[in-house]
Amino acid sequence: MSGTLNSVIELDATFHAGVYNRMKICLVRGEGSRVWDSEGNDYLDCVAGIAVNNVGHCNPKVVEAIREQAGKLMHCSNIYYIEPQAELAQRLVKMLPEGLDKVFFCNSGTEAIEAAIKLTRRASGRPGIIAARGSFHGRTLGSLSLTGQEKYRTPFEPLVPGAKFVEFGDLEALASAIDDKTGGVILEPVQGEGGIIPALPEYLSSVRDLCEEKGLILTFDEVQAGMGRTGSFLACQRLGTTPDIVAMAKGLGGGFPIGAMAARSDVMDMFHPSDHASTFGGNPLACSAANATLEALVDEGLIQRALELGNWAIDNMEKTQKEYPELVKSVRGLGLMLGLEMASEKIAMKVFDDCLQERILVNRTAGSVIRLVPPLCITKEELTRAFSAIRASLRSV
Ligand SMILES: *Cc1c(COP(=O)(O)O)cnc(C)c1O
Repeated sequence: MSGTLNSVIELDATFHAGVYNRMKICLVRGEGSRVWDSEGNDYLDCVAGIAVNNVGHCNPKVVEAIREQAGKLMHCSNIYYIEPQAELAQRLVKMLPEGLDKVFFCNSGTEAIEAAIKLTRRASGRPGIIAARGSFHGRTLGSLSLTGQEKYRTPFEPLVPGAKFVEFGDLEALASAIDDKTGGVILEPVQGEGGIIPALPEYLSSVRDLCEEKGLILTFDEVQAGMGRTGSFLACQRLGTTPDIVAMAKGLGGGFPIGAMAARSDVMDMFHPSDHASTFGGNPLACSAANATLEALVDEGLIQRALELGNWAIDNMEKTQKEYPELVKSVRGLGLMLGLEMASEKIAMKVFDDCLQERILVNRTAGSVIRLVPPLCITKEELTRAFSAIRASLRSV
């Protein structure tokens, strides 16, 4: 270990909150689907900042846009008009499903969910929101209240009242949870932290119908699945259902922090001046980064690439599962949002460690699921390398 890594570990242990389970790696540089640590080791990155670096680390278009805007104007208040913000809103609406035609900008995924909660209350006039078990919507109190995982919620109760949880994929359960206080429903079209679980298209369209019938606002959390990752701009476009509200963040700024909530304009128009706001939300620098990110997604054909490479990857993973049916419990994914559910947490940990030995970064979620959410510019050869490492690890169990 070099002096750099040791001293960072020491500073972190002494001065930083102990909220992160960190690996003993300090990343210092990235390019495309590769990253380098302080020791000079390079890695194939199948984590991408957890589905953030969709256009690749340090995408030249994004770097240039940030450089240029940083020298002009980084921040100004939302009491003034902001040109890159207006442009980004237009660009985003063009990429969103038809009907989602107004946008609010914030700085993170959890903030996009907070905005969706407030808008749901405003538009429905009711406080209740139904969410799914196994969901993840963020760490602030509102979005935590809708996160269907006890381990995140219990220590911080009492949370915001009004949340109810039902099994993800169970339409009947959702229908019976609706009461006269229910204002909306929130779902991830592909559950991310919950273990990469794509919803069935029929489930989403039935939920859509149910919400229309009962006058409920439907929100999709596309913070992780969106921004091209699943082979369409939003996962719900591939799955064929349009919500009333959508939350986005992670990949939107190409690595720069930005979040967004889009909505049907009749819903968004229920927000009046000072109903909601953000100091930094939609600032010139973040919006310039996001404009360049969306341009890169399109110009570099990354959404199509996620679709094709994703289909290939899922085939490949299914072959691995057939080879090791006692070790790999299931294989799931949509585009380049991929999960291999191992038979136990122990096997997942071994695969994780063996990949790291091969300098391949993967992530483990929901205990036993190996999650691969690489930059969308990753090559087939690189993905093959990752799959070979996983297979070699399983062989030696
Ligand atoms: C990461 C994530 C969030 C929270 O985003 P932050 O930017 O960490 O606040 C919310 N929803 C989903 C589906 C996520 O994956």
